[in-house]
Amino acid sequence: MQTTFPTVTVLDIPFVKTTADELLKVLKQRIVDQQNTFVVTANPEIAMYAHDHPDYRDLIHTADFITPDGVGILDGAKILKQPLPERITGFDTLEALLNWASDNHRSAYFVGAKPVVIAQLKRVLDVQFPGLVIAGMHDGYFEDDAEIIADIADKQPDMVFAALGFPKQERFINAHRHTTKGLWMGVGGSFDVLAGAVVRAPEFWQKHHLEWLYRTVKEPKRLKRIAVIPHYLHLVRRQAKQSR
Ligand code: UDP
Repeated sequence: MQTTFPTVTVLDIPFVKTTADELLKVLKQRIVDQQNTFVVTANPEIAMYAHDHPDYRDLIHTADFITPDGVGILDGAKILKQPLPERITGFDTLEALLNWASDNHRSAYFVGAKPVVIAQLKRVLDVQFPGLVIAGMHDGYFEDDAEIIADIADKQPDMVFAALGFPKQERFINAHRHTTKGLWMGVGGSFDVLAGAVVRAPEFWQKHHLEWLYRTVKEPKRLKRIAVIPHYLHLVRRQAKQSR
């Protein structure tokens, strides 16, 4: 991973040790400089999946920046006595980049989510980010990506956001990132949130590091996601002992 930041390795994943603001500055500069960039925002679930799937771990190691998305990663870094300053979520990074793009007439391409969500997303983007150039949009339920990639290569957007869930979105980005000179980032369920199909936790829950609880209560099928946390913390503690 080539990065301008120091990193903290939690379960074999090197997370950037920086703030959201500092990272954003670097991402914007790389876009202006037309430097190809792959951003992964990883939570404990992704860390565990990478732990169990070495091919996925190797793939995300090729990212230019891996950010701590989720309090579990901050907790892990604390256990290792190498604290990270703050969460850098996919959603917040996406929103910040879209605001910047809107102010600077930069372009973005959106791949992912259900067709109805992507149609609603277009309406929301037009209102919320009027200066943004929407290079293209495609839902995330396609058989063959050749046509989408040909379109992305043709449009050469400054940014490509893939909301396909992991590991699909990172595999998609890894396979195609070199078709543009811009930024590529996997953003999970962010299109659903932006489009208003899913409501993000109110600030109180976010501030108290309880966003996961709020989302689980709203969507009980997420329970199996947080079920990985105890095993994850066990593995991090083992890593801490080994490094002592
Ligand atoms: N998705 C998609 N294609 C697929 C599977 C999922 O576009 O083949 C979308 C799905 O509609 C949702 C997002 O990927 O918008 C994944 O959201 P999820 O809540 O699973 O991800 P998280 O935010 O937890 O990473």
